[in-house]
Amino acid sequence: MGSIIPLLTEVEKQSISERQALPEKYLGLSDAEMDARIASARDTLGRRLVILGHHYQRDEVIKFADYIGDSFKLSRQVANRPEADYVVFCGVHFMAESADVLCAPHQQVILPDLAAGCSMADMADPEQLETCWDELVQMQAMWGPPSDGTGSQWGPPSGGTASQWGPPSGGPGGRQGIVPVTYINSAAAIKSFVGERGGTVCTSSNAAATLKWGFEHGDKILFLPDQHLGRNTAYKMGIPLDEMVVWDPHEMFGGLDPEQVKRARMILWKGHCSVHERFTVAQIAQLRKQHPGIKVIVHPEVPWEVVQAADDSGSTEYIIKTVKDSPPGSIWAVGTEVHLVNRLGNEVAPDRTVLSLDQFGCLCSTMFRVSPNHLLWILEELVEGRVHNRIVVPEEQKHWTRVALDRMLSIQ
Ligand code: SF4
Repeated sequence: MGSIIPLLTEVEKQSISERQALPEKYLGLSDAEMDARIASARDTLGRRLVILGHHYQRDEVIKFADYIGDSFKLSRQVANRPEADYVVFCGVHFMAESADVLCAPHQQVILPDLAAGCSMADMADPEQLETCWDELVQMQAMWGPPSDGTGSQWGPPSGGTASQWGPPSGGPGGRQGIVPVTYINSAAAIKSFVGERGGTVCTSSNAAATLKWGFEHGDKILFLPDQHLGRNTAYKMGIPLDEMVVWDPHEMFGGLDPEQVKRARMILWKGHCSVHERFTVAQIAQLRKQHPGIKVIVHPEVPWEVVQAADDSGSTEYIIKTVKDSPPGSIWAVGTEVHLVNRLGNEVAPDRTVLSLDQFGCLCSTMFRVSPNHLLWILEELVEGRVHNRIVVPEEQKHWTRVALDRMLSIQ
């Protein structure tokens, strides 16, 4: 399979030691030797091993995955392989954390390179979220409960504290002021916080269904960490932009005044994906000029104006299905991570043409840290009975993270 970034691949091979340090013997191996040894270790481990691969993962690694998918699909796969002792997650840190929460107690989740994080997930830390929640409580106290007679619990129950505010304390079907929703691209500590306060987790596949669920349970949604996914999804559902505000966690009270928050239905955390923010309206205009009739489809993590200029938008699974189902002869420009775009292009050629919306190919550099060298090291060590890089969510976070993830899995 051809690569759109051969130069970077060469650079990566030379700088492999900049990632999580590997034993010397795992550096400088030929591709053929790595392939043969990975396949052999995989065979030896048999059904005790399951390898999960995210769509954005590089080809040299993804070819060994038992299941390929987005975060949502892969989260579900964990439950389908209860006989596997080892879940090797070729993705990034937050995905392995979710897998650890959803898997059975005997299963161990392993991330081949501990340096594989997610810049978006890092944009929301638990302390910032606690401050945000406390400040929202203080703000609502300035304007008091709603006077619409709906019985909405906007703010803490009488005499309550910030930590009591939010959960459906009115019992099943009870409404709350703000429902916190976190994108799956967030740390377990964030998911746990959200779960404890009556909120849930969403993915790009079920974001619209999740917002609908959120508005059935409360008046406003605090959406984090990706402002773009929150804004794009809400706008598509008919919520106007002037009913959304951006909460800057680096500013006091998010940089907002109480009236702004009072009017808003969506409170968007100021976070983004550094890969998807690179797509622009100018790129779309350029490609439309070069390829009249081209269709443009983008991931909802891109900025709002890019979604407006595109023909369609949706999750990675939606993008794949839409392109595959399009009539022969179609030409597509796809705005998401380049490994997915490249792979999709190879799969649908020659009947359909797929181009990256960014001609230089937007690469998730943290996902790229999971190299075949790291995968080989992990598997050969497992064959010897040694487990490295196990991802374990602290017990105190597990319960509420699981509650939040179970809510996510139940929302269709
Ligand atoms: S593409 Fe963006 S959101 Fe996805 S793992 Fe990479 S940095 Fe995180």
